[in-house]
Amino acid sequence: MFWTSIQKHPESMKKVPNLLDYDATYADFSWPAIRAELQGLPENRGLNIAHEAVDRHADSPLRDHVAVQWLGSEGATRAITYAELKSQTNRFANILQGLGIDKGDTVCALAGRIPELYIAALGTLKNTSVFCPLFSAFGPEPIFQRMSRGDAKILLTTERYYHQKVHHLRDKLPRLGHVLLVDAGDHLADDLLSLPRLMTEASDAFVIPPTDPEDVALLHFTSGTTGMPKGALHVHNAVLTHYMTGKYVMDFHPDDVFWCTADPGWVTGTSYGIIAPLLHGITNVVDEADFDAVRWCRILAEQRVSVWYTAPTAIRRFMRMGIEPARENDLGHLRVIHSVGEPLNPEAVVWGEKAMGLPIHDNWWQTETGGIMIANFPAMEIRPGSMGRPLPGIEAAIVQRVDNDTVEVIEAPGVQGELALRPGWPSMFRDYLHDEERYRKCFVGGWYLTGDLAKRDEDGYFWFVGRADDIIKTSGHMVGPFEVESMLMAHPAVAEAGVIGKPDPLIGEMVKAFVALKPGFVPSDELRLELIGFARKKLGSAVAPKEIDFKSNLPKNKAGKIMRRLLKARELGWPEGDLSTLEDSE
Ligand code: ATP
Ligand code: MG
Repeated sequence: MFWTSIQKHPESMKKVPNLLDYDATYADFSWPAIRAELQGLPENRGLNIAHEAVDRHADSPLRDHVAVQWLGSEGATRAITYAELKSQTNRFANILQGLGIDKGDTVCALAGRIPELYIAALGTLKNTSVFCPLFSAFGPEPIFQRMSRGDAKILLTTERYYHQKVHHLRDKLPRLGHVLLVDAGDHLADDLLSLPRLMTEASDAFVIPPTDPEDVALLHFTSGTTGMPKGALHVHNAVLTHYMTGKYVMDFHPDDVFWCTADPGWVTGTSYGIIAPLLHGITNVVDEADFDAVRWCRILAEQRVSVWYTAPTAIRRFMRMGIEPARENDLGHLRVIHSVGEPLNPEAVVWGEKAMGLPIHDNWWQTETGGIMIANFPAMEIRPGSMGRPLPGIEAAIVQRVDNDTVEVIEAPGVQGELALRPGWPSMFRDYLHDEERYRKCFVGGWYLTGDLAKRDEDGYFWFVGRADDIIKTSGHMVGPFEVESMLMAHPAVAEAGVIGKPDPLIGEMVKAFVALKPGFVPSDELRLELIGFARKKLGSAVAPKEIDFKSNLPKNKAGKIMRRLLKARELGWPEGDLSTLEDSE
C-alpha cells in the first residue's frame, strides 16, 4: 500500500485504552471471563440482553445517569435515565404480554429514530420476543417482504407510516394481530391501538422471564448490497460480543458520551446504536434527523461526544463538501472515531486526522456476525486501508475453497483468499430465516465463510479486497475494486468511485470505473485521461481502469453502500435485480 501507518502513543491519548497490549489480551482471552463481567438474570434464570443493558444499571448508582440522549429533528430533546428506561421498557413488555405476544414471537418496528423505538426494542427483549427493526425509509414492498417472512405478530409505527405503507397490506399479513401507533391519542380500532394510552395503563413492574442464552432475540435483514436481503437470526448470548467489543474496540469508559449514526434498521444501529453503549452504562446519543453535515458537527461539539461510530458514506460526504469539523467546532471531547459498513479508503483515514483532529478507525463485520470481528483498536498503530486485527476470542483466516466440504487455510501473508471465521463466537447468526440450506452452505471445513475476499499481512492486519461477487478477473489478474477506488479517491477531483469488471473478449474483464466529482470539478475528456493516467502511474496498466464514466451520484442502497452490482447491470443492460433497498435519491 501507499500510505504510511499512523502510530499511537497510549500515554498521550486522552484516556488509557481498555486494550493496551493486543497480543497479551488476545492470548489471555476467554468468553467465560467476559460473561463474568455481566450479571445474568437473578436466581440463575439465564441471560437477557435488556437486563444487562438497562435493569442492571437502573438498580445501581447509575440509575439517574442519562441512558439515551434523544435529539429530535425539530429541536425537541429528551434525556432518558436508566431508571426511566427500566420503567418504560417494563411497561412495553407488559403491553406485549397483555396482547398475548409470547417468547419467540416477532415484534416489528417501523419508526424513525424516536424514543419509542428504543423502548420497544428493549421491552421486546425483556418479553423474550424477537425484535425486528425496519428501516423507516423503506417503501411498502420491502416492508411487506420483511414482515411476512418474519411472521410479524405486532407492529409499532406512526399513524403516517401506517396509512402510507402498511394499511393496504393488512389482508396479506394475516398473522399481524395488532398495530401500536406511537402518536395516536386513543385507540382507532380493536387492532389499531394507541401506544401512549397503553403505556399509561400498563404497570411499570415486570419480571423478565427465564431467558436461555440461546433464545432468539433479534431478526436483522442484511443490507441487500449483493442481492435479496437475508434474514439473520441472533440470540441473547450475542450480548457477550456486544459488551466485549464495546470494551475493546469502542473503548467505552465511564462518563463517555457515544454516538452511533446508524439507524437501528441496520444491524449496526441496534448492536451499537442501542445495546453496546447501554451495556457499559454510558450515555447514548440518538439523533432523529437525517445526515446534515453542519448539524452533525454541532452535535459532536454540543453533546460532547467522546466516541463516534459512523460510516464511510458519511465521511465521504464531509470530504466531498470540503467540511473540516474540527476547524469550526470544539471537538475537544472526542477521543475515538470508528467506521464500518464499507471499506474505508486510506484517504478517509488520513482526512480524519486533518479535519477531525483524529484518525478514523475502520472495523469489519457483517449482519451475520452480530458484532465487530476485525478492528483497528484505539491503542494500536493504524494502517490506513486495513480493517485491523481480529478481536480477542475471534479466530480469522484467509482460506481457499477446495471443494464443497473442504477449505485450505492460506498461511502465507499477502495472498488473497476468502475471509473466514472460526464458528462459535456468541453473536454468530444461528440461521438464515427460512433458508437453512443457505445457512449450512456458509460453513465449510470448520470455518464460516464470509463471502468477502481479503489478505493478511505479516503482522496479522487484514486488508479488504472486495466482495467475492465483485472481484474482477482481468488478463489473468484478480483485481479488487477497493484498491482501484481508493486510488482514484486520492485524486483531488474525485469524491466517490465505484469499480466493476466489464466482460471483454480479449482480457476476460476490463476494469471500468464510475466516478462522482467534488464540487468545482466538471467532467471532461481531459479529466478522464488525467484520471486514467493517475491510476496507471500508481496501479500499473493491468489494474488501472481502462474506461471511466462520470456520474453525479453513484447508486447506493439505503444503508449508504455503493451497489456495484447495479452499476454493472446497467452498464451491460442486465436485469437490475432486487432494488428494494436502493436509495431514493438515485
Ligand atoms: P447483502 O449481504 O444483503 O448483500 P451486505 O453484505 O452489504 O448486504 P451487511 O451485513 O450490512 O450487508 O454488510 C456486511 C458487508 O459489508 C461485509 O460482508 C463487507 O462486504 C462490507 N463491509 C462492512 N464493513 C466493512 C469494512 N470495514 N471494510 C470492508 N467491507 C466492509
Ligand atoms: Mg452480506
